[in-house]
Amino acid sequence: MRNERLLPRTELGEIMTPAYVIDESALHRNLRILNDVRQRSGCKILLALKAFSMFAVSPWISEYLAGTTASGLYEARLGREEFCRHAESEVHVFSPAYLDSEFGDIAELSDHIVFNSFAQLRKFRSRSKGKSLGIRINPECSTQDEPIYDPCAPFSRLGVTLANFDEAEFEGVDGLHFHTLCEQGFEPLAKTVEAVEQKFGKYLHKCKWVNFGGGHHITKPGYDIEGLVSLIKRFSEKYGVQVYLEPGEAVVLNAGWLVTRVLEIVHNGMDIAILDTSAACHMPDVLEMPYRPPLYNSGQPGEKKYTYRLSSRTCLAGDIIGDYSFDEPLREGDVLCFEDMALYTMVKNNTFNGMPLPEIGILRSSYELVKRFGYEDFKGRLS
Ligand SMILES: *Cc1c(COP(=O)(O)O)cnc(C)c1O
Repeated sequence: MRNERLLPRTELGEIMTPAYVIDESALHRNLRILNDVRQRSGCKILLALKAFSMFAVSPWISEYLAGTTASGLYEARLGREEFCRHAESEVHVFSPAYLDSEFGDIAELSDHIVFNSFAQLRKFRSRSKGKSLGIRINPECSTQDEPIYDPCAPFSRLGVTLANFDEAEFEGVDGLHFHTLCEQGFEPLAKTVEAVEQKFGKYLHKCKWVNFGGGHHITKPGYDIEGLVSLIKRFSEKYGVQVYLEPGEAVVLNAGWLVTRVLEIVHNGMDIAILDTSAACHMPDVLEMPYRPPLYNSGQPGEKKYTYRLSSRTCLAGDIIGDYSFDEPLREGDVLCFEDMALYTMVKNNTFNGMPLPEIGILRSSYELVKRFGYEDFKGRLS
């Protein structure tokens, strides 16, 4: 095969594209790191389904993690149906506002229910009997500059600030929850925990559990795991609480590819490759964040001999993935592998422009197809 150098594994050159391919060994590597944190710190770790919901791999995930966390009814149901493989598996849920019509089912499916305000707690408390209830707090401690990912940004709707904390209503509530990080290391967490202790310390002593949310880049090389373990231990002992972490991204970081083929090369001031994938449909964060996704064995524009703009086969002019360079010219039929494509991809994709959804597979000793989509998946969301 002529473009073998562009493939992390040769099997990927033979599959139908576009395809999301989960790398079994990389997923296990991440799960082992999280398991080590869990064992040494005593925390419980949940998978945030918002980032990754591929239930075909739930047996591996539930082997290491304590359960899942959901953003609402559908994810809670998926967590209960597909990720509860042990008697102790837990389903947690947080939503900025619950629907009256859904709350009965949510309460039935969930072990922990976290409310975004004391008004929500008051509204649903009587329908949450037997469940462990929590309040999401806003420690008002920004540790990043991206307002779209910063729940502590001014006028944030997420979490109760200290000024709005209702001490009387908090009576009988089991836990506090904060989620303020996004792709961040240990230092921002340490700073956030300090703010939480300073502002909400009085209430921490009344808690059975405290949930540190997600956004911890624990499985990224260089993350200060020792710092995390000792912080969790100190915190749990000081307040007598069970600490939870609920990462999404860290569970599947660098554990999947989006495999695509070159359909056509056009020239207009530069060389432009049209791929059978789409940023808008299959990796929307590329346009939303925005960012330039890593591509296996490619360089920055100009770094290698042949530079191309990689773009999509939709009609959206701005559906551009980015500029990349290669050692050899690209040709029709070449297979390319975008890296780190397990997280926030399958859960966010869409069929805009009538684009097919990528198939989903797992790379083990060989490629195993998990699911292939078709016209019915496109039509089924329309009327
Ligand atoms: C998004 C989210 C997570 C997971 O965040 P990652 O950045 O994927 O780790 C966890 N908890 C809450 C409340 C979230 O909104």
